[in-house]
Amino acid sequence: MRKLLKILRYKRHIIDPKALLTLELVGGLILFYFIFADITLLIDSIRVMYIFGFAIIAGNHRLFAHNSWPCPTWLKRLILLVSTLSLHGPVLAWVAVHRQHHHMSDQEGDPHSPLHKSRLWVQFLSYTYPPDLRYSLDLYKDKWQRAMFDFYWVINIVFAVILFLINPVFVAVWLAATFLAQMQAFAVNALAHNTPWFLFPTKEKSTKDASRNVPILALINGGEGWHLNHHLKPWKWYFGEKWWQFDLTGVQIFITLLLTKPSYLLDLYHKRKNNVIAN
Ligand SMILES: [Zn+2]
Ligand SMILES: [Zn+2]
Repeated sequence: MRKLLKILRYKRHIIDPKALLTLELVGGLILFYFIFADITLLIDSIRVMYIFGFAIIAGNHRLFAHNSWPCPTWLKRLILLVSTLSLHGPVLAWVAVHRQHHHMSDQEGDPHSPLHKSRLWVQFLSYTYPPDLRYSLDLYKDKWQRAMFDFYWVINIVFAVILFLINPVFVAVWLAATFLAQMQAFAVNALAHNTPWFLFPTKEKSTKDASRNVPILALINGGEGWHLNHHLKPWKWYFGEKWWQFDLTGVQIFITLLLTKPSYLLDLYHKRKNNVIAN
């Protein structure tokens, strides 16, 4: 165990935040260029953003960090690969940072609380927070997770070369899409805690942290804006608690379950009907 922890302490330095930040900047500049010069490429980037967005929100967050829905192994591997290509850093690191956020929410030691760090830092620089991989020890046991971590840059460089050989424009669309997906996901960290008043945050129940439900944010980032709900019940894959709290990612997960694990949904339905589970 001690040897494993030593390896993890060393391994967290494999991911150079400067490289991720540079790619984030390049993606942002390309996107800026698309906005003014090529609207079709902008639309393509938004389309690809949704694919990366699903991998981050339904995958990194609701599946890998919280284990909230039963995913078939083949789909888990696919989501892991797409997430790796979204340039959010390796899943192991993402999950470690996120679990630490839940563990120490808005206290000292929260990796990205806008109460302790500036909102701009949370939005653009949270990469620079070194992950404490002890938080993702369970995932580390999976050889696919380890491979995606150890060969993170190799996989992304190979992917970039393949895209470039097919069509160099694809590399630009890829980087612009990863930037958009990053902004979409990081907006929750920056804006769903200590939320500015003009986003009309609500707090229906009290929590020790500063998380809020932010309907505007929920609309633009696939339901993640129901952040207070999520902090109260992190084990749930559907974040809406009231009928009008629409959660796009929750619906996508529901459709995925309907296609791959209908028996699970049926079982869930019976348990709720018989009040075996309360939520
Ligand atoms: Zn939070
Ligand atoms: Zn979470």
